[in-house]
Formats: sequence, C-alpha cells, structure tokens
Amino acid sequence: MKLSSYWWDIEENLHTTPADHLPHAADLVVVGAGFTGLSAGLTAARQGRSVVILDAGHPGFGASTRNGGICSGHIRISHAVLTERYGQDYADRVYGEGIDARADLVKFCTEEGIECQITKAGHFNGAMSQKDYDKMGRQCDALNAIPGHDVELIPRERVHDEIVTDRFYGGLLRREIGGFHPGKFFAGLLRVVQDSGALIVPKTVVEAIEDDHGQTSPQAKLVRTSRGSIQARQVIVASNGYTGQRRSFGRFLRQRIVPVQSCIIVTEHLGRDRVKALMPGLRMYGNTAQLSSYFRPVPDEDRILLGSRSFDSLEPSGRSVSFLKNKLVDMLPGLSDVKIDYCWLGNVAFNQRQLPSMFQHNGVFYSAGYAGSGTVWARWLGKKTAELAMGMSNQTSVFYDAPPPRIPLYDGNPWFMPVINGWFAVQDKVNEWGFRLK
Ligand SMILES: Cc1cc2nc3c(=O)[nH]c(=O)nc-3n(C[C@H](O)[C@H](O)[C@H](O)COP(=O)(O)OP(=O)(O)OC[C@H]3O[C@@H](n4cnc5c(N)ncnc54)[C@H](O)[C@@H]3O)c2cc1C
Repeated sequence: MKLSSYWWDIEENLHTTPADHLPHAADLVVVGAGFTGLSAGLTAARQGRSVVILDAGHPGFGASTRNGGICSGHIRISHAVLTERYGQDYADRVYGEGIDARADLVKFCTEEGIECQITKAGHFNGAMSQKDYDKMGRQCDALNAIPGHDVELIPRERVHDEIVTDRFYGGLLRREIGGFHPGKFFAGLLRVVQDSGALIVPKTVVEAIEDDHGQTSPQAKLVRTSRGSIQARQVIVASNGYTGQRRSFGRFLRQRIVPVQSCIIVTEHLGRDRVKALMPGLRMYGNTAQLSSYFRPVPDEDRILLGSRSFDSLEPSGRSVSFLKNKLVDMLPGLSDVKIDYCWLGNVAFNQRQLPSMFQHNGVFYSAGYAGSGTVWARWLGKKTAELAMGMSNQTSVFYDAPPPRIPLYDGNPWFMPVINGWFAVQDKVNEWGFRLK
C-alpha cells in the first residue's frame, strides 16, 4: 500500500521550479500556494499587479492535492438551520453562491484548457436514519426553490439505482454537483498561474507579517520569511488548515480555525464493470453519519475512494486504514476481500460557524475554513479575496464578514477533537444497533 495521495501519481507536472531569489517588494504577497492562494494570485496578476505567492513546502501539498475531489461547494449547515439563525434571505444567498461558484469552476477549467476530468456526475447523500431522511425532504424543497438547484429525494426502494447498499433509508440526489481529479486540476492551475507572471516561491516559510510604516499605503506590510523580507502593498493569508501552531505568523487565524484530520483510502484496481455494478449512478457520495464518509469512483471509474475520520495526524496507521475499510465494507459487503492500494491524510479546516470565511483583520485579508468543501470554495473565495484586496471589484461574497469568533481555550492544537470524535462514534454506534435490530 502506498502511504501517499493517489492524485500525485499523474504524468502532469505538480511541481514549481524553485525561485532563486525573493523580490524585495510586490503589490500582493500571498501566504500559501494551495487552491486559495493560487486563485488569489492569479486574479491579481491578470490585472497587471506584481504578485508573489509563498509556500512553506511544495505548493498544493497541503489540502489541495489530498482531498476527495468532490466538487460540491457543500454547506454544512442546512438551509433550515441557516434560516433559523440568520433569516431566509441569507440562507438563499449562501446556497445561491454555491451555484455561482461551481459554475465558475467549470467555466475556468474550460477557458484555461485544464483537463482534470471534471464532471457534473451528481451527488447522492445517503440517510443513515429515518429522521435524517425526513430532514432531507425539507432541504430538497428549500434548495429547489433557489435557481440553479436540481435536487431529488430518493426513497429507500430506489437507492440501489444509485449505490447497491442496504444501509440507507433513502437519500438526497443533487444533480448540480460533480467532481474532478484534484491533482490534474492543481497541475493545470499551477501552469496558468505561472503563465500569468505571478511568482510562486516554494519552501519559504512566512514567519511574521508586520506593519510597514515606511510605505505610503496604509495597508502596507513587511512579510518576514525564512529567506528574507518582502514589502507588500497588500497581503492575503491562504494558509488555512496548514497554518501550524509554532510561529507568531498566523496566530489570529489559528485561534479561529480548527484543522481536523481526514483520511482517505483508494481500493486496488476493480475495473469499471465492478465499480458500476456497485455504484450504478457513478456519482459522488456521502452519508449522514456523525463521523460521515465521502466516497466516489475515482475519475477513471475503476477504483473506489472513501474518506472519513483519521486516527492519526501525520502518517496513516493501520488503525485508520481498518476503520475506513470497515466503513467501506459495512456499506458494500462485497468489497471485503479487496486490497487497499493508497492511504493518506490531510487537514480539513473548520471554524465555529462552519461556513466558509473571508475577512480582514489589521489590514490583512484572509480566506479559510471551507469545512471539507474547498475544491469549489477555495478557488472561488481566493478570487473574491483578491478582487476585494486589490480594489478590483465591489461584488463581494456573502461569506465576507467579521472574522469568525475566537475558539475559547484554543491556540491551534485541537486537543478537544478526540472527545468530539468519541461522542460522534457513540452516536453512530447507537444508530447502527437500531439499524441491525430492525
Ligand atoms: C483528506 C481531505 C479530503 C477532502 N475532501 C474534499 C472534497 O472531496 N471536496 C472538497 O470540496 N474539499 C475537500 N477537502 C477540502 C479541500 O481540500 C480544502 O478546503 C482546500 O484544498 C483548501 O485549499 P487552501 O488553498 O485553502 O489550503 P491548502 O491547500 O491547505 O494550502 C495551504 C498552504 O499554506 C501553506 N502554508 C502554511 N503555513 C505557511 C507559512 N507560514 N508560510 C508559507 N506557507 C504556509 C501550506 O504549506 C499549504 O501549502 C478535503 C481536505 C482533506 C484534507
């Protein structure tokens, strides 16, 4: 088994050429070269601004090439709960922006010639209880009332048209959602950003961002890095779930963002016929378990990928692999004899609101916390953040708001996650016993 991302095994070039020098000044400095950072940098560079994008490691090797490749632009908070908390107009705008962001991703890939096997395959979310299924009915009606949605409630007797499992009480099918190959998308994005004239500098750690009082612009900053300092007229922080705990840089963000480890397995080669027999819908999939899983055929439709909670923080252990394999087999018992060829993990970034977040603090712009749905949100909000920071557009995002609240007793080390995961596991077990006793 390879303990590395399945998405890294491609012919396309995932690496940047190391920069031999760091410029001493730029219109925009971006911290982090994942989907958010590259998208922000591209937007500004295309408007003729000088842009430097710094990454502590290899660009893209944070969450951006470790995810499941499901392009949902999913919002974790249901439309009903959003309405209850903030009103229906806000809820409609949040879900409506998802439609724009997904459409913009597809348009971007087409216009830039990025061949990343992007599809609008649809997303099927399986209900793990009757209660979950009933809630889906309400979500279905609310979403279909917002233009661009194409949602259908699938009753239990039709689940096998989507996936051959008896574990679901029915499900919600969202036809407007799809998926892509994150490695191929990242390689394409990297090429486009490099062609735009933005300078991507790998292996350069940002250590601090300070006010640069010598500059004319009130927002001007001095960005101190492991390779020297850069003067920046504007700074965008796009380090998201990889901000880390050690440096003075990123403190404001890490007190508001929780990196939650998620682990993914990919099966051995099963062949298209076997995958199609198990997943006739060939869609993106999820379920409503508390420790939920996301799963899909890989873009070539010859293996199955499944992701869920990780027990580890750096390298996947046997415990994480068997946890995920059990989840797969519980759903698709015919896969019990199947080998796992790949396993890896990464940090998914959450904030307390569980909504994507774009904000400004002390003259620095931030975009982060996409709650496991950043393939759509990171690119979209990276672009929106750059437009705002560089004064290029006044059409901002519904997610541009005050910074997310600081999480009490927290400075970047999510010590409480084992407790939360333990509680979720108990709830899922109780639900499972209910299912088995029926
Ligand atoms: C296992 C897993 C599965 C997921 N599945 C899905 C999915 O199926 N669908 C979906 O929509 N989303 C999914 N996501 C989420 C999605 O991948 C992320 O939301 C998205 O990639 C975030 O991109 P980003 O550019 O904001 O952050 P990242 O890609 O994490 O980039 C942050 C970068 O900042 C750099 N950095 C950090 N600190 C510094 C510093 N001090 N100086 C310089 N650079 C720094 C890091 O090196 C890193 O490259 C998943 C995530 C994971 C981990």
